[in-house]
Amino acid sequence: MTDLPTDLTRATAADLAGALASKTISSVEVTQAYLDRIAAVDGQVHSYLHVDTDGALAQARAVDERRAAGESLGALAGVPIAVKDVMTTKGLPTTCGSKILEGWIPPYDATVVTKLREAGLPILGKTNMDEFAMGSSTEHSAYGPSRNPWDLDRIPGGSGGGSSSVLASFQAPLATGTDTGGSIRQPAAVTATVGTKPTYGGVSRYGLVALASSLDQAGPCGRTVLDTALLHAVMGGHDPMDSTSIDAPVPPVVEAARAADVRGMRIGVVKELGGEGYQPGVRARFDESVALLEELGAEVVEVSCPNFDYALAAYYLILPSEASSNLAKFDAMRYGLRVLPEGVDDPSAEQVMAATRDAGFGPEVKRRIILGTYALSSGYYDAYYGSAQKVRALIAQDFAAAYGRVDVLVSPTAPTTAFKLGDKLEDPMAMYLNDIATIPANLAGVPGMSIPSGLADEDGLPAGIQILAPATKDERLYSVGAALEAALVDRWGGPILDRAPELGGAAAAKGA
Ligand code: GLN
Repeated sequence: MTDLPTDLTRATAADLAGALASKTISSVEVTQAYLDRIAAVDGQVHSYLHVDTDGALAQARAVDERRAAGESLGALAGVPIAVKDVMTTKGLPTTCGSKILEGWIPPYDATVVTKLREAGLPILGKTNMDEFAMGSSTEHSAYGPSRNPWDLDRIPGGSGGGSSSVLASFQAPLATGTDTGGSIRQPAAVTATVGTKPTYGGVSRYGLVALASSLDQAGPCGRTVLDTALLHAVMGGHDPMDSTSIDAPVPPVVEAARAADVRGMRIGVVKELGGEGYQPGVRARFDESVALLEELGAEVVEVSCPNFDYALAAYYLILPSEASSNLAKFDAMRYGLRVLPEGVDDPSAEQVMAATRDAGFGPEVKRRIILGTYALSSGYYDAYYGSAQKVRALIAQDFAAAYGRVDVLVSPTAPTTAFKLGDKLEDPMAMYLNDIATIPANLAGVPGMSIPSGLADEDGLPAGIQILAPATKDERLYSVGAALEAALVDRWGGPILDRAPELGGAAAAKGA
């Protein structure tokens, strides 16, 4: 068995799981180490919206007792985790990064959260996110942005920047995310962590606060491909509470991650993803990764997916349309915020709704509700939503044609390394372009993963490579991801994340 580092927060989830199983360490010790780390650094990083110290320790104690009693436990039992604040947690606040849900305590757990609890993973807290998962930087969170541990003046990606920064700052060994257009993969890319968007329907959506139901997919985030696979196996599987859940066993992701074998695999480089608009360093690290895959025994070809050029435009009609409908439930009547209009005696229900939605939603959410309501309105429906759905079908056809020739596709995950906080906030289009490479997978429902590809610019910031597989073949992401990860660890002399400056140091250097 691998020796654990003295600082337990630096260990992989797989190694922690091994040490817990052999009773070398207890879950209380690991959980406490993480709570101490959170107390020391989250003031600078702001990964968490809520930390559940007592709850996490109680769950840790419970799992230690079950182990002591000789119960047979799941592979990750006792390893703590951070949960994105889009997932309902019974008795714990769930805000979705929005003022409209401030103070709401859900009466039930999302299925994913139930699975985590049953598998014995203590929940450390809830991670920050762009409001209702709309964004690529966490700057749209109503509670202030999270920061990138590589450089605290930069964004950690979004919408799941709380979950990516929690991993990169060693404030949790594992985290959950949701990916509607890239919110697991793009944050992973800009923080040198790993994230998977499973096949649509592979992980339950029950208890996720919906953004765009036909695109939303929950998935695992970790610091290594194997850790991410172990979490994928816990989160995934059929759920009768979700009508789009796939009724089949979780693909063999852990076995694939352990085998880490790409020999004889056919890998397609997507011609449309990686040209204009991609930073030269991001492209260089991507090309190197592809060369490594070839050295490892894969066969690499270029593949064209011509309709990917229209993916962003189609997404920004379909997503706002679905979001405008999903967010209609925040009406000040059932739960969440209620604001009374000023200076109105005896206000009508409509006036209370308007005042509440005006005060409770941020500018990006309002922008998308207006856009979606317009796109769905009678007379415009066919021209906008209808056309976007046709483009969506063409994108699915591009994938189908590509997978007739290759086993997986690859591209850079995001066009650039992490940008500075504030740089793209006033320019929605610039913000949207961060997801240009990740969105096609959501439109087609196919699985995707991002792993770090190396340091990609003069500031020493990391970039990511995206791997895409056919629907239900999620295990291929892990075969390719784990093989490439091992080759890159050799090439860089260790995990890329080890190159991140120590947080205290970075903050001290900036005079914080
Ligand atoms: N950044 C994309 C958006 O703003 C993706 C969001 C997501 O995946 N939740 O829509």
